[in-house]
Amino acid sequence: VTKIGVLTSGGDSPGMNAAIRAVVRTGLFHGLEVFGIMRGYQGMVEDDIIKMESRSVANIIQRGGTILKTARSKEFFEHEGRKKAYANLQKRGIDGLVIIGGDGSFRGAQKFSAEFDIPCVGLPGTIDKDMAGTDVTIGFDTAVNTAVQAIDKIRDTMDAHDRVFIVEVMGRDAGYIALHSGIATGAENILIPETKTDIEAIIHGLTEKEKRKKLVNLIVVAEGEEFGGGNEVAKVIRQRMPNADVRVTVLGHIQRGGAPTCEDRVVASHMGYYAVESLLLGRRNVMVGVINNKIHYTPLEKAVKEKHKIGTEWIKIQKILAS
Ligand code: ADP
Repeated sequence: VTKIGVLTSGGDSPGMNAAIRAVVRTGLFHGLEVFGIMRGYQGMVEDDIIKMESRSVANIIQRGGTILKTARSKEFFEHEGRKKAYANLQKRGIDGLVIIGGDGSFRGAQKFSAEFDIPCVGLPGTIDKDMAGTDVTIGFDTAVNTAVQAIDKIRDTMDAHDRVFIVEVMGRDAGYIALHSGIATGAENILIPETKTDIEAIIHGLTEKEKRKKLVNLIVVAEGEEFGGGNEVAKVIRQRMPNADVRVTVLGHIQRGGAPTCEDRVVASHMGYYAVESLLLGRRNVMVGVINNKIHYTPLEKAVKEKHKIGTEWIKIQKILAS
């Protein structure tokens, strides 16, 4: 490879900028030309591509979001769109791609590299952490710490009243943010998409606690949990326990924003460096991950098929610790 493109695609996550910086500077170090592709695959289709210099990525390691912006691209789902995108890369002689995104973005990369002869390397940029082939993803640590800080604040006011507090965190398909933030804030119940929501057990627990006059209860709920999130769970509890004072907070997009934590900056820098190194070594169509603190490569094909399996043992442990 002599000229590489870097893009951020799909949902954004804190730390993407640190990854872009690492890709650009490692590429330049090796004498490559580096291009920034704006708005994910959409910018590739629309030829929104800019030359990156060392200064282009100055002062961004500490910033949330992504300077390249991100988008979802309908056109890239179609062969015609991908053909246009490839023509735009060819025009500049770009012969390698680094894609920072989630499994949707990797599915796109896999299709693209199968149709056109271009090596693609993926970096897992998602707050959800649910990617196979890696212990960590860029953005999870920041998102989960934001959730913990918010829940801590809610707990302060919770303690002043006798209430059931339900906090909904992000995670449509993955319960990592809910599980980790719930453990870290001592939640009485944690509801995640990976397990069935045992509403009877929760009602039973709340009723028992009512008898013991332990009236403060925190339930952390992932948005993709069986009932459909915090408000839905609240509805059921209110129906069954008309006297309970149930409050719901949906944390929402604050979890995606903010300055990346040290951990996310380090992970993104590490992965960004190895994305370029692996393109230079001729690796293609792999995701760069970290397992047991070591860089690990997973074929994109495998990365999009498998999910990281959540350790539900923690649900049991948490029941004991929060009782
Ligand atoms: P994420 O990467 O965060 O999972 P998305 O699922 O929205 O985000 O995917 C990002 C983009 O990747 C899509 O908007 C689309 O352009 C591209 N993409 C996703 N899946 C495919 C696919 N099966 N074929 C082609 N492109 C895809």
